[in-house]
Amino acid sequence: MVTAWRPVRKRFLCVVRGTFKTEAVVLRSIRFGEADRVLHLYSANRGRIGAIAKGSRRPRSRFGGRLEPFFRLNLVLYEGRSEMLTVTSAETVAAHPRLREDARALDCAARACEAVARVFDDGDPHAGVYHLLANQLALLDGDPRRARRATALAFRLKLLLAAGFAPHLAACTSCGERDHLVGFSGAAGGVVCAACEASAFPLDEEAHEFLVSALGCPLAEAPDAPPRALAQAERAILETLEHHGHVRLRPLGRG
Ligand SMILES: [Zn+2]
Repeated sequence: MVTAWRPVRKRFLCVVRGTFKTEAVVLRSIRFGEADRVLHLYSANRGRIGAIAKGSRRPRSRFGGRLEPFFRLNLVLYEGRSEMLTVTSAETVAAHPRLREDARALDCAARACEAVARVFDDGDPHAGVYHLLANQLALLDGDPRRARRATALAFRLKLLLAAGFAPHLAACTSCGERDHLVGFSGAAGGVVCAACEASAFPLDEEAHEFLVSALGCPLAEAPDAPPRALAQAERAILETLEHHGHVRLRPLGRG
């Protein structure tokens, strides 16, 4: 777990120089030097990686406009002596053009990419996280009205699950009591009963139901809940990540 971006660390990778293929989502695209771009990617095979696309800002670059955030790409990458991988070729799998036309969908997509970049370290691949991110971007592109707080929270919950920090929701995290679950403790990592709620904040039944159902159902069927329940669910997610992942995410907006 880290909070800052770092280049690929070779010791986690097989140090075989040459090219390899992977699908990846562009998390960030940064202008570099005269005509290049540095890409922060989340790849299907290797998790978070950084790569340079040389000459990609030249007018007739073979990469065209596809090295922008939220593009899902088929990449060929070269791994040489340098810390940074080099993009040899890039084909579009999904451009997500509709997502880009809606401010809230763009914001929701940006937060999904940011959360993935911050929760997972370099050289820590999770195919499930890649598919979750690709799915979230496809859903937002298919219907930008999905850019609701509930959908963004469901995405974060599933990231927690992938990172191994899914909150305990079935019984009191401290004593195992199955009834009278009235609070949530980030430190304990789940719901707590009335007798154990010392370090907890109140969690309404609707918020508890939202957490259980958002974790259990596909992202496309993420449930909704009243604003108060969503605010509590968000606090549960943020505090769980802070205590167990040492990652602090920006709060989501209302809506
Ligand atoms: Zn208890």
